[in-house]
Order: sequence, then structure tokens, then C-alpha cells
Amino acid sequence: MLLIRPVPFSDESLESYIMRLAESNGYIKASGFWSAIRQTFDKSGIEHFNIPEKLASVNPYLAKRSSSLRIKALHHLSTLSNLEPLPLLELAIFRSANPYCTNAQAVIHNGKTLPRQFIVSSPAICPDCLQESNYIRQIWSFWPYNRCHIHAKPLINVCSCGEKISVYKDQAIGICQYCNVAYEKLKSTVSNEVDLIISTWLVGIENHELPNVSQSHKFGLVLWWLKLRTLDLSEFNSNEFVAFFSDWPNGFYAFLEQKRDRFLEYGSKPMHQARFKDVYDDLLLISAKLPSPRFNENIVLTAIFCFFNDSIISKNNEFLSLRINSIEAAILLNTSTEQVAALVDLGELKSHIRIKSGEFMNLHQYAFELGDLFFLWQAGFQTEYSNLSVLTSRW
Ligand SMILES: [Zn+2]
Ligand SMILES: [Zn+2]
Repeated sequence: MLLIRPVPFSDESLESYIMRLAESNGYIKASGFWSAIRQTFDKSGIEHFNIPEKLASVNPYLAKRSSSLRIKALHHLSTLSNLEPLPLLELAIFRSANPYCTNAQAVIHNGKTLPRQFIVSSPAICPDCLQESNYIRQIWSFWPYNRCHIHAKPLINVCSCGEKISVYKDQAIGICQYCNVAYEKLKSTVSNEVDLIISTWLVGIENHELPNVSQSHKFGLVLWWLKLRTLDLSEFNSNEFVAFFSDWPNGFYAFLEQKRDRFLEYGSKPMHQARFKDVYDDLLLISAKLPSPRFNENIVLTAIFCFFNDSIISKNNEFLSLRINSIEAAILLNTSTEQVAALVDLGELKSHIRIKSGEFMNLHQYAFELGDLFFLWQAGFQTEYSNLSVLTSRW
């Protein structure tokens, strides 16, 4: 079985490749092929639940019980012929052990990290791409990519028959299961310029509007921006996103200043009694991992540091006394909360809460002052991954 093996495209999705495998090996229906595959698993002794009923759920990140058993099953599938193993694992999307900020789950595909909530289970398609080569591009599943960066047209998610397109439920690749039309015949409209800028940027092509950072960080920035504005995915506004990041970091600094002014005007307590959180909400928590916590891979944390350093700390004003807790201190120092506790023990960092000997500090207690953190930083607090090393040229 599986004697004919098409070569996968580097940007192809795993489901698409399996559908093409079915076609090349004489199966008219992808679902028939998938049932046959499942039967071979019954005989192989590997537990059946590793292979899902539906091809659309084949990726390891979707495994309900154990993604490592799913990976084992994919490995088995890739060796079903006596030829070289099939390149299935290279195309797969895996769970990542490292969540984003505030516990947003992450997945890994081909060395890229992105938020799990950004994966679209039933991607829209570009008819022109399908006409050039009939396979499903993985990037079509990565929200907010919604414009083909090659043909500059919107992806289409509804067939001309009016049904929603479900590419992995179709019996043959690129053919509507309801009306049998080939998707390559569908017509798309002219694209919105701003959406195209975002899609082109996400795919890894440099542009002048948006920050030139790694692809993983780009998806991290989209997630961060949504959290900063407390928006759902459905509320994402591409015009506002591009306007915000095209003036980076000035737009962000203006946002931080606005927050400060609002607190000074409407805050319920004087600044010297306030917590960092009172003024800036969860800013540090949402910015901590995008997906990296390191300054040179996280433009948001770098901007936060520069903002406080330049416009607040250097003027020696009352923001120095903003209270932060151990979790926020660990984010700023890019270290662990245990290390923060050790710095207190060593007398390097002053705790404003008295801890009896033998007791531990509660991580959520607002024991530190922002100013102390900055002075400690500047005094040369270093760990192997210290953020300071990226900014030492400033001092
Ligand atoms: Zn296209
Ligand atoms: Zn149709």
C-alpha cells in the first residue's frame, strides 16, 4: 500500500498531503482511503484512538488523549511502504510546551510558534493558487492571514453553490463536496490593501509598515495587541493594527502615557500608594512571552523598559514607587520567582513587606517598588539570559 508517493510541497498542510496521497494511490474518495488506513492500524497493535475518525483532526496538536501517541501513529503511517518514510511529521502541527503570556496555548509548525487559537480548522482558499497547483497551503489556516500574498486577493470561504468550504471534508482535493465545482474556478474580489499588508507580513516578507521581527513574534504581536485592547479575534481591526505598529513604538508610548494620565485624573488613590497593575493593568503579564521573554526577541518588553527608563525613572518621579509583585518582578528581570526570592534574601532587592524568618513570600503580594527593580537592573543584575545584556550599551 501507498506505493505512489507524491512529493509534499514545503508550504503544504498535512491533511492536504494525505488527500493527495489517497488520490495518487487510486482512491476516488479521501474518506475511503482514511478508513483503509484506520483498518491497518487495527491490525498493527497500536491503539486505535491514536488515529482520529476524521482526517481533519489528524494533526498531533488536536489529539484528545495523547499527542505523543498520535505522533507515534503518524510515524507508523509514514512507514507503511517499504520505501523511505513519508515526510508526515515535517508537515504536522504540534502542541508547544511553552504557553504564551497569560496561558494562551501555543502550537509549533515547522519551527514557527503561534497561538493555538489562531489555527483555523477549515481554511479558506485562493482559487489562483489552486489553479497553479492543487493543494492546500498551510498558511491559509493561520489567522489573521486572509489575503493571498501571491495573488493579492481575499481567500474565499464560501463556494459558488452557497455552502461553506470545508477543504478537509471534501472527497477530493479542491472540489466542492456539494456541487462538484473546482474551487480554482471561483472568482475572488479585489483585496483590501491593509489586510494584504498584514498577510504579506505574517508570511515572512519584510515590509515598511510593520516591525521586521521573526514570524513567531509577528503572531505573538497580534495576540498581544488583542489582549492589550481586550478584543476577541472577531473584533480584530486590521486598519487599527497597522496604524498602531507602523508608528512603533510611539503609538505604544502614547498609549502608556494615556493610561498614566487617566490614572492621575481618575485613580482611586495617590500614585505613591498605587500598584503597577492599578495604572497599567496586566501589561507585564500579557507582554512577558511573545513567545520569547528576551528583549532581543520581544520588541514589546524592550519598549516597556525604554518607556519607563526614559520618561519616568530618569525624571525621578513618583512612578518609582509603583508596587509590583514577584511575578511581575520576575518578568522584568527575565528570571524566576525563586530567583527574585533569593535576591530578597541576599539583600539585593528590598521587600516592602516584612517576611518572618522561615516564611515564604506570597507571589501575588505587592512587595516591591518599580524603582528598586530598575536600580537593581542597572546595577548589573545578570543571569545567563538577562535582558540587561541586550541594553548594556545604554549605560
Ligand atoms: Zn493565491
Ligand atoms: Zn459548491
